[in-house]
Amino acid sequence: LAETTQTQIWINARIATMDPTRAAPYGEFANHCLVVNGDVIDRIVPMAELESEGVAGIVHDVGGRWVTPGLIDCHTHLVFAGNRVAEWEQRLSGVSYAEIARLGGGIMNTVRATRSASEDELVASAKPRAQALIEEGVTCLEIKSGYGLTTADELKMLRAVRRLGQELPVEISSTLLAAHAVPPEFTGGADAYVDLILNEIIPKVAEQQLAEAVDVFCESIAFNVDQCDRVWPAAKRHGLAVKGHVEQLSNQHGAVRLAAHRAWSADHLEYLDDAGVSALAASGTTAVLLPGAYYFLRQAKKPPIEKLRAAGVPMAVATDYNPGTSPFASIRLAMNLACVLFGLTPEESLAGATRHAATALGRADRLGTLAAGKQADFLIWDVDHPAEIVCSLGVNRLVSRVFRGKTDDVAA
Ligand SMILES: [Zn+2]
Repeated sequence: LAETTQTQIWINARIATMDPTRAAPYGEFANHCLVVNGDVIDRIVPMAELESEGVAGIVHDVGGRWVTPGLIDCHTHLVFAGNRVAEWEQRLSGVSYAEIARLGGGIMNTVRATRSASEDELVASAKPRAQALIEEGVTCLEIKSGYGLTTADELKMLRAVRRLGQELPVEISSTLLAAHAVPPEFTGGADAYVDLILNEIIPKVAEQQLAEAVDVFCESIAFNVDQCDRVWPAAKRHGLAVKGHVEQLSNQHGAVRLAAHRAWSADHLEYLDDAGVSALAASGTTAVLLPGAYYFLRQAKKPPIEKLRAAGVPMAVATDYNPGTSPFASIRLAMNLACVLFGLTPEESLAGATRHAATALGRADRLGTLAAGKQADFLIWDVDHPAEIVCSLGVNRLVSRVFRGKTDDVAA
């Protein structure tokens, strides 16, 4: 294993920098090399320049292969206990979602299992899910709480998230999603539960530095926009960033209110209207597209991709990995679905899981593109063209994954 304090040079690379300041598709640099010092990219230079100058360091020959930034999954719920497979079978046998929920299924099924699980059990069950994403090339991963819905259980989930970041070679962005569902103890009293979030859960999470952002589920079956708009300012008062699940199943006008808080991201957006598009554009909020949930729920209404594109709203793509509505530990599947179902180009889709995902996690200064000064998180692919990373599923074309300047070979 290479010492990360040394200079390392990846030579003979075809680099898809995803840097928008480069006019070439995918921000390409052909026949270049990446010079890395420690865990930071020092510079990207043409091979000819390197040959004439000569640079001392450990040399890795990429052999003309494509190099991309590390993939970033900016929206997951991958810490949870239990599973919802039986419900899926019931739904496909004709049992309605309302009936399943009446019998204690749906999100409350996962809440019960997660409350019963220990922190160790949550870490153990989440590890293979995170590992699957890592093996696909994910180097930065967001994980939300939201299946505890008590102060103790939300803190327990977030401690499990923190441990995943300590035990796996991946950067974790941790998000408090206490406002995911109204817990059974508060049925009919969502405002009282929001009081608990404001007065106890957010302060404790901030004090223990267990999350960097606060998320909400703004929907008719969860929290209304006024309740969400109590959570967002409270989060900001504690120095936390804000984001929201908005306009997924109906238009609650959550995006406009969320954008007013200079949110990191607005996620789902199937029912986003023109005012919402304008608000996201004006505030610089990233739109996070989650085509896995759209697909699994067989939704009919797509997010307004053309309008978002025309307004210049950055569009990220993420898995939304969760047991109920998007049980997929594959960022490449999400990128593929974003193209096939939503009409993104492969380049937009790859930007969605790199540059724009970094923006959605407040990390645009360090992650998401390959350029001097960025963190040395990148992937070497055995593909003829970067679109193949998005197009073709089932075969892992990832040859090498470099995380913070350290290589872990994932190829067989
Ligand atoms: Zn979600």
